[in-house]
Amino acid sequence: MIRVGINGYGTIGKRVADAVRDQPDMEVVGVAKTRPNYEAEQALERGYDLYAAIEDRAHKFADAGMETAGLVDELVAQSDVVVDATPSGIGAQNRDLYEEYDTPAIYQGGEDADVADVSFNARSNYDEVRGADHVRVVSCNTTGLSRLVAPLREAYGVEKVRATLVRRGGDPAQTGRGPINDILPNPISIPSHHGPDVNTIFPDLDIDTLGMKVPATLMHMHSVNVTLEAEPDAEEVRELLADQSRIMVIDESLDIEGTGPLKEYAMDMGRPRADLWENCLWGESVTTEGRDFYCFQAIHQESDVVPENVDAIRAITESADAAESVATTNDAMGI
Ligand code: NAD
Repeated sequence: MIRVGINGYGTIGKRVADAVRDQPDMEVVGVAKTRPNYEAEQALERGYDLYAAIEDRAHKFADAGMETAGLVDELVAQSDVVVDATPSGIGAQNRDLYEEYDTPAIYQGGEDADVADVSFNARSNYDEVRGADHVRVVSCNTTGLSRLVAPLREAYGVEKVRATLVRRGGDPAQTGRGPINDILPNPISIPSHHGPDVNTIFPDLDIDTLGMKVPATLMHMHSVNVTLEAEPDAEEVRELLADQSRIMVIDESLDIEGTGPLKEYAMDMGRPRADLWENCLWGESVTTEGRDFYCFQAIHQESDVVPENVDAIRAITESADAAESVATTNDAMGI
């Protein structure tokens, strides 16, 4: 069993913890948080040992009636791998802690790429990560783009990717985020940082991305154009994408017109937290014109990186090859 510690038990960390717990070859040593709140209460309710991330605030858990198992250092010391799911920038500050205990660590996409030896997407570069000590699972948007680009590159070759990312203003629980009534070019400069981030996975890929933020919380939406090196017909590309285990090609018959019904579909499927771990790509939008491919895909920002974190744990511990790991993860999570 691979013993996994989760440092940072928020939107991403709590989902990773549950996904790890469901794997046949992994166990959760515990989860670390800075302060007591509803998520800490639920961590205990789910049976996870809770560790205090900051020593001089540790008493706050006891004050709130929440029992802790120790300090984060003890969690790191006992873990074979730590998944760091702390807010952007904190992961880099934690790197010394992981090195002190010689515990390999997985960081999230909010960190700069140089926090890690290598950036990771299971479909695209699993083997480059094998045995690394510090790995970064790329952001939700970069994960979504990488999963789409990888099969297109293999099947047809890619000359250029152009993608416009219509991003949610904040996650549903982020009450302070916005915009409330606006459409923001964000960042205003072009290309957005997403293209260079995809280049951490595919260094030689020609990609331009444009970002926006809108008053929505449910998902991101990508409008994608890829100039291929071949001229496949749309039906063939649609089949290729439907064959990818982490791309859900939405059939016309489902009558899903946007991210609202998509999340409703996730709830109807009984998905935990209404998570959509796959890229949700509208089959009807798959279009080719000569060498140009077009589509719309929605990305559930809170959950698409979760199976990637699980695979990164196997890659970092060299305990399975890519196909084996992805199959095990998918099977355990119900993807
Ligand atoms: P979050 O704010 O929901 O959760 C972070 C958790 O870490 C909170 O529980 C917080 O209390 C805890 N924390 C804060 N400081 C800590 C410390 N020093 N030690 C331990 N725990 C600490 O954040 P999130 O949305 O889960 O984001 C985590 C990372 O994942 C970021 O790098 C982010 O960019 C990335 N990410 C987020 C999303 C998303 O949409 N939410 C998607 C993909 C990647």
